[in-house]
Amino acid sequence: MSSPQEDADREAIAALTLRLRSGGIRDNRVLSAIERVPRRLFLSAALQKHAHTDTALPIECGQTISQPTVVAWMTAALEIAPEHKVLEVGTGSGYQAAVLGHLSREVHSIERYRTLADLARERLSTLKISSVTVHHGDGLEGLPEKAPFDRIIVTAAGPEIPPALLAQLADGGKLIMPVGPKGGVQVLTLAEKKGATIVTRALQEVRFVPLVEGVASRL
Ligand code: SAH
Repeated sequence: MSSPQEDADREAIAALTLRLRSGGIRDNRVLSAIERVPRRLFLSAALQKHAHTDTALPIECGQTISQPTVVAWMTAALEIAPEHKVLEVGTGSGYQAAVLGHLSREVHSIERYRTLADLARERLSTLKISSVTVHHGDGLEGLPEKAPFDRIIVTAAGPEIPPALLAQLADGGKLIMPVGPKGGVQVLTLAEKKGATIVTRALQEVRFVPLVEGVASRL
């Protein structure tokens, strides 16, 4: 038996997924991963009524949960297979990590705010998503002990792709990140490692909170 809240969530997510599909997201694996994650559970009580609208929303520690359309674009661009080892930099609420967790058997997500990392861990455990491990640390350094990664997704913006992340990308691997100056135009950039070369492609303009060096000293 499902509760009236669960039924309402399911209906709202189905409507959101339809919207993503008509907005041009055609990857069924990505759409069904999104369909399996109740975004409401990743938001504070006051914002839950907006959970299934297609907008970015504020979360704890002054950060934001990405717009579902952007989550879908970024996830689809990575073409994740179940056997790919995935790294996310910028766990935030844990929503994107949950979507990734339905596509890959091994996902690592790093967050510089301990509060956010703890909350995300709790939410993922409530949803029984055991493929995701949340780490508290500085994502600019990547996660050398788990490298190389087949796919890397950075959900905060920086002026360039951090060199440590490129170093931890497997040969043939793909990385996606919003690249641009603080406060300026950021371009979603897809990088692919082919032997010693990195081929990059600019996708579309986006707006993300900045990547910040080091773990947060408070919160
Ligand atoms: N993917 C998130 C949204 C992320 S917002 C979601 O689905 O909700 C960007 C996040 O990146 C913020 O939580 C911010 O604290 C984090 N961040 C910024 N710089 C970081 C760094 N150097 N290492 C790890 N996390 C970082």
